[in-house]
Amino acid sequence: MAFGWIDEQAELRRRAGLVRTLRPRPSNSPLLDLASNDYLGLARHPEVTDGAARAARDWGGGATGSRLVTGTTELHTELERELADFCGVEAALVFSSGYAANLAAVTALAPHGTLIVSDAGNHASLIDGCRLARGTTQVVAHADPDAVRKALGTHDGAAVTVSDTVFSVDGDAAPLADLAASCREHGAGLLVDDAHGFGVLGTGGRGAAEGAGLAGADDVVVTLTLSKSLGSQGGAVLGPARVIDHLVNAARTFIFDTGLAPAAAGAALAALRLLRREPERAARARAVAGELHARLTAAGLEAVRPDAAVVSVRAPSPEDAVRWAADCRAAGLAVGCFRPPSVPDGISRLRLTARADLSEGQIERAVRVIGETRP
Ligand code: PMP
Repeated sequence: MAFGWIDEQAELRRRAGLVRTLRPRPSNSPLLDLASNDYLGLARHPEVTDGAARAARDWGGGATGSRLVTGTTELHTELERELADFCGVEAALVFSSGYAANLAAVTALAPHGTLIVSDAGNHASLIDGCRLARGTTQVVAHADPDAVRKALGTHDGAAVTVSDTVFSVDGDAAPLADLAASCREHGAGLLVDDAHGFGVLGTGGRGAAEGAGLAGADDVVVTLTLSKSLGSQGGAVLGPARVIDHLVNAARTFIFDTGLAPAAAGAALAALRLLRREPERAARARAVAGELHARLTAAGLEAVRPDAAVVSVRAPSPEDAVRWAADCRAAGLAVGCFRPPSVPDGISRLRLTARADLSEGQIERAVRVIGETRP
């Protein structure tokens, strides 16, 4: 039978208790949300939803074509200008997703003959970028600048180190300044995915690279998503103008993909302007994360100290993690549940996001529910 192997895989998943299902979220969900990536609480901000609605009215429901044909509106170029200006870099290029931005950046910056040094904890989109790139990938130990230095020392030609700035599973930060120093010793480029740092780290949320003193560096390229702190959808690559020009000409997920939807560009632009006006949102997200961690730890739970807005809580087993998340949900709390194969080390976790707009009462309630439902 065609695709017969699918049934075998499904059976294995069922037996291992690892079947994933989709659950539609009602627009007026009564659940307290510690599962989304809406770190700054902007996805439903009236200025952001108005930005989306106005853009759709002015420009249409879709971009109508690829960026190089009809898919570049004034909104796209405005968003790119303002993102670059905010982050202190020469230029930016927006994509239909952060995933596409990562595929573009890795493949375009690592042609044949390039060594790609990739952190073992990197996001799937960076891993897939490495798989697609013509360069050769060497995976190195997690958050280890010495391992990066050693790998770069084995290679004579062009090289690029690729890392998340904040790792999506445990919420721990990469040692960016040390990574940049390792790269510079070997004349290598540094490509970092700031999906979880942008809007939370750096001055007023300018991101992890700015926070590490790397904003505007000519050997650093940053990718980000518009779907987390900015509460919209889409991705971006930021860096030197010559790198961005190169992507326009060489990155296949830019050239052959329909441009970012105008509504998403409009929402992202409105959110970016809000973040500029209200920089305290970034600090608040970090403070909420710190408070969640302190309270969870005080309750005897094993939580990883957060470097940004993601707080990870260890669960004894995948089954326990699934049951724990379901019990939280039944008690009115939405939390993320990470388990194999989405975790690099096989350890299952609850994944909590510290939104800037959580109140003290909500933080207290969340910790109480997590404590009461623990396996
Ligand atoms: N990088 C990281 C670290 C992420 O967590 C994600 C989203 N889960 C992405 C890239 C992909 O971004 P997007 O959802 O915009 O495609």
